[in-house]
Amino acid sequence: MATTNIEKRRLAALDRLGILDTPPEERFERLTRIARQYYDVKIALFTVLDNERQWFKSRQGMDTPETPRSVAFCDYAIQQDKVFLVSDAAVDPRFSSNPLVTGEPFIRFYAGMPVREPSGFKIGTLCIIDDKPRQFNEIDLNVLRSLASIIEDELERSYLAATDHDYVHVSHLSRAIHRAQNVFLTSDNDRAAFEQMLSDLLALTGSQFGFIGEVLRHEDQPPYLKIGAITNIAWSPETQAMYQEVERRGLIFDRLDNILGLPMLTGEVIISSDIASDPRRGSLPGGHPPISTYIGIPVFSGDKQIGLIGLANRLDGYSTRLAEELEPLLQTVGNLIERKRLYQEKHEHQKSLEQAANFDALTGLPNRRRLTALFEQELFEANQRRGLVSVCFIDLDGFKEINDKHGHSVGDAVLKSIAQNLLSCVRSHDIVARLGGDEFVAILRDVDDARVYARLLEAIRQPISYRHYIINISGSMGVTVYPDDDSDADLLLRHADQAMYAAKEAGRNTYTLFDLDSHFSRKERVRIIEQVGDAIRLGELELYYQPKVSFTRHCLEGFEALIRWNHPREGLVSPGYFLDHIEYTEHARSVGNFVLCEAVARLQEFSQNQLPYTLSVNLSPSHFLGPDFRNDLASVLGNCPRDIRSRLILEVLETTALDDTHRVMENLQACRDLGVDVSLDDFGTGYSSLDLFRRLQAQEIKIDQSFVMDMLENADNNMIVSAIISLSRSFGRRLVAEGIESAAVEAKLIELGCDLGQGFFYSRPMPLDKAMKWAGSFSWDNRSRLAEL
Ligand code: C2E
Ligand code: CA
Ligand code: CA
Repeated sequence: MATTNIEKRRLAALDRLGILDTPPEERFERLTRIARQYYDVKIALFTVLDNERQWFKSRQGMDTPETPRSVAFCDYAIQQDKVFLVSDAAVDPRFSSNPLVTGEPFIRFYAGMPVREPSGFKIGTLCIIDDKPRQFNEIDLNVLRSLASIIEDELERSYLAATDHDYVHVSHLSRAIHRAQNVFLTSDNDRAAFEQMLSDLLALTGSQFGFIGEVLRHEDQPPYLKIGAITNIAWSPETQAMYQEVERRGLIFDRLDNILGLPMLTGEVIISSDIASDPRRGSLPGGHPPISTYIGIPVFSGDKQIGLIGLANRLDGYSTRLAEELEPLLQTVGNLIERKRLYQEKHEHQKSLEQAANFDALTGLPNRRRLTALFEQELFEANQRRGLVSVCFIDLDGFKEINDKHGHSVGDAVLKSIAQNLLSCVRSHDIVARLGGDEFVAILRDVDDARVYARLLEAIRQPISYRHYIINISGSMGVTVYPDDDSDADLLLRHADQAMYAAKEAGRNTYTLFDLDSHFSRKERVRIIEQVGDAIRLGELELYYQPKVSFTRHCLEGFEALIRWNHPREGLVSPGYFLDHIEYTEHARSVGNFVLCEAVARLQEFSQNQLPYTLSVNLSPSHFLGPDFRNDLASVLGNCPRDIRSRLILEVLETTALDDTHRVMENLQACRDLGVDVSLDDFGTGYSSLDLFRRLQAQEIKIDQSFVMDMLENADNNMIVSAIISLSRSFGRRLVAEGIESAAVEAKLIELGCDLGQGFFYSRPMPLDKAMKWAGSFSWDNRSRLAEL
């Protein structure tokens, strides 16, 4: 463990005490025995925490004399000033895997009260341990505290016995000062420091009752007292109520028109040797056990009175000399109060900074930053209870106009009222935040109810009156509900925001639920995009080949290459499943280049085998129109001979050709220059004008299969097909009909003068080896009977 300064001093104090590794002593044995018996537990210990171990000065029910400090429960205990309780270590994440829990002595229950050495450092604990979970009540706590304080008294007694006897009083005092300082420095609450000082003051003076308080003042009001520590007189039923009342009010004494408060007014030490007959007595609060003698000592910092100490019922009475002797301790008390105030001021300053950082100054609502924290907590809790969280993103309609027309003060007033109205229509555990501008967010717990959403909009529609204005405004709201929408806080807000825009589009003053279905398809898209990246790298993409036959020469003209994905889990996947998703992503280009490379390699093989086939490939619009296309094509072709290039046909969708005609023209020309043909795919779906058609440098037209497939039953389609055929003939373009599924359609197309045909009638797309076999067995007469292959 990192040894802090305080820890170093603590270890030094422990060393001075000289208790480590000493034999058991009956005075401590007795206490641990009592503890074990009283609580009826397996183990009771007086532990001492050394640098790296916890050592047991006294142990009942525990075999080992020490354990490593790293597993010591007591190390947690000495971090606090009160009893440290673990009611079931097995379910406590800090301890569930602790070897003392999983193995001997199988700790389940632990309660440990820190024990301080005479100068105030916490050296160890008095603790009890059991192997079953247990509950601990208030009385149990008190007993443990008392037993621990007996140990402290014992430590103090032996310490005193070992030091100089003549100056007991002085050494007492200086140790009390040390102790006060140490306790103050090492405690996490100053209440403990005040308690310590009070108990020292009582002990030093032999007083029965007492208090230490801080003197405070509101502006010009009379001073009042804030108690830091007071003798607990709650042991009798009559006084219990009074003590509790004081405690409830934050231990504030503001009625000090009596002898207790007198030093605050005079700034002087007040001594009374018989309060009952003292004329300065005033009205003392009733119910206190009788007070006979009293000393009130003001505490100063510089010349400002900042504290008051009251002590009562010293047997020998009080004297000014006593007050003088206490002076060094009083100074310490003064310093401590002063420091506490500084600390508090700092703390308050911090708090106001925090307020500014977390809350919207205009409406007082949590701001975006705070909302994020609250929202995350809300989601966490929803998970725990398996509940819902509705996220409502609200944007006011026409707020800017109000601001522009009436000025910012009116705008501000509107925002403030709306904040209030929204707050008043949600429950206390719901969250309303302002994100800035006229955007609000409401986070609702376990409601997904149209009426509640409508109520929020209604709250916004409440007419707002400000000065002589009456302002009517409405809001548009988008809602998404967790966990149906299983996103993180950030994304949920974005989704609700998106839905809010839909509400604006739907005419404002309404709400829209986030469209989960289209969201999921977007998510699916993202998943596919990621997977396609892997597919390219892992070689899961493959080209299938569908034959194209010539009606004029009755031969196999070539193939169209169609991509397939051998998906590791989903099997053979068609392009319809993934191509649209990757369009306009970097993968569109990678897939395009893969297809081009494959096709060129294939054409080279064909050429080596003296096979005169053409090969058509499909180009995605974004790749074809993108900035890299011409370079990509040129580099794929490399120094391919002309006859190979001339057999490559690039299929570009007619719709793509209509997109950016200038760029399309350029690219078509570039293809020409590189010696490859272009085919206008799915022709007829894009409605090219005759003029454009004339200008497009395409050598081939592919009638869309939707017209071909039912041209015999559908007269319109029949007409379209005839028109396209005659059109392409007049412009001298090659014509391909795809989607031929029957001999009848084929016959009709031949009759109309179509050049080439493609479709299931001949064959479905096939892997390369099958396509080659198919080609090898092709003859015009068995063109449609090769399917069995
Ligand atoms: P497409 O270019 O119109 O390709 C023809 C599609 O119709 C192919 O579907 C083919 O299997 C199918 N088909 C062929 N003959 C018939 C028939 O007689 N009846 C019916 N019902 N269908 C027939 P596939 O292979 O699923 O491809 C779908 C689309 O995906 C293609 O339509 C093309 O636009 C695109 N595509 C395919 N491969 C690629 C590629 O490598 N790159 C790009 N960018 N797009 C591709
Ligand atoms: Ca095609
Ligand atoms: Ca097509």
